[in-house]
Amino acid sequence: MSKHATVPVTKNEEIELEITGLTHEGDGVGKVEGFTLFIPQALPGEKVLAKVLKVKKNFGFGKLVEVLEPSSHREAPPCPVYHQCGGCSLQHLAYDEQLRQKTVIVQDNLKRLGKIEHAKVHETLGMKDPWRYRNKAQVPMGEEEGGLIGGFYAQRSHRIINMESCLIQHEKSDEIVNQVKKIASSLGIRAYNEETGEGLLRHVVVKVGFKTGELMLVLITKSRKIPNKEELVNQLTKQITGLKSLVLNINAKQTNVIFGEETEVLWGEPYIYDYIGNVRFAISARSFYQVNPVQTEILYGKALEYADLTGNETVIDAYCGIGTISLFLAQKAKKVYGVEIVPEAIADAKRNARLNAMENVEFAVGEAEKIIPWWYTQGIRADVVVVDPPRKGCDETLLETLIQMKPERIVYVSCNPSTLARDLQILEQGGYHTQEVQPVDMFPHTFHVESVAWLKLKES
Ligand code: SAH
Repeated sequence: MSKHATVPVTKNEEIELEITGLTHEGDGVGKVEGFTLFIPQALPGEKVLAKVLKVKKNFGFGKLVEVLEPSSHREAPPCPVYHQCGGCSLQHLAYDEQLRQKTVIVQDNLKRLGKIEHAKVHETLGMKDPWRYRNKAQVPMGEEEGGLIGGFYAQRSHRIINMESCLIQHEKSDEIVNQVKKIASSLGIRAYNEETGEGLLRHVVVKVGFKTGELMLVLITKSRKIPNKEELVNQLTKQITGLKSLVLNINAKQTNVIFGEETEVLWGEPYIYDYIGNVRFAISARSFYQVNPVQTEILYGKALEYADLTGNETVIDAYCGIGTISLFLAQKAKKVYGVEIVPEAIADAKRNARLNAMENVEFAVGEAEKIIPWWYTQGIRADVVVVDPPRKGCDETLLETLIQMKPERIVYVSCNPSTLARDLQILEQGGYHTQEVQPVDMFPHTFHVESVAWLKLKES
């Protein structure tokens, strides 16, 4: 039976309510006669007027109509297209309060879903300057009379809205995207039209090495045939100062996947380089790389601190991607084993190991939950295991293998506090003790929260 015999609100009704919390998606939460409503853009501590849009059995969704009593943490979002874009969801909340809310979200999840109350959850480590932090921009292109536009899709549609500047992207990205619009328009290059399949230029991708200043521009087109191709390359490479790599990627499919399978270097190098700490990484058009390099260094620094390496340890890095954490740890460990499901990522990881002349790392392609149990049967024992799984968290088989393998320390890097809580509870039941959890803000102005948890094997 439902907790509520009657639902106290009806669709389209306008109601006043107090907002008492924030969901992990950044929506305000309030109650009307015990009935929960989620109101995007409303903040804890506010009294708001909201229009009810959707009513379910136990909860509903509303739209913010007016803030009647604003929170003292409410701020005017600096981005002029904040409400249309949907890329950020917390610009209306002061940054220090965003950080505080992220800490609360991690604490709540651990307590509620993981029954973990003993572990200290530190204050979220934020950025000194929480703007212009992204090193990769992927901009969909469209047309208006007079030429190319590019920016983002209007919410719930595929209509492109032009944007000259995105405040969370590196300035260089804005500059380069605007140059591409201008130069390609003047050469008669058309934008791809998703509905008709006509046109050519689909996306413009810019990557910036924050430490090296190296720049890569990727044009994603429907076909290899580009009118005035030579002139396009000529003008782009002349006008974009500091460009190191100009790449064409061809995606002929009628799909919303950004990249296609074919990549061709039009000019310059196939890679740009960047550093995390002292480790050098090669970044190609398609390779995955952490998008906030400043905070990545802080996050990995914390992981390294929790791993507490002396140089004698064997370490396993599960869900290793292009080996970023593995190589970071290999500087201080005897041996690191990395495992990752995407073969291209492992190819990058191996290349990056060579690039840094690191010989104490070994990478395997496969599911962590299959490879690590197999390593275990082969006699491999880790002193420290680092896991950095996708949002759905670790596979239970993997956690069970760790419980058998008994590494002294487990460092759990998580992008989802609810699956973190679930997995920590399993590890706690298997003999581990969660010492500390450190949330790190990798994505200011969005609701994403990353954290790193430090677990120790209990003395038996
Ligand atoms: N540690 C890396 C990437 C973490 S993202 C970094 O810091 O850059 C999570 C990674 O897990 C992705 O690269 C994804 O491809 C990989 N992955 C997803 N499911 C997996 C599985 N079952 N086994 C191994 N890797 C997996």
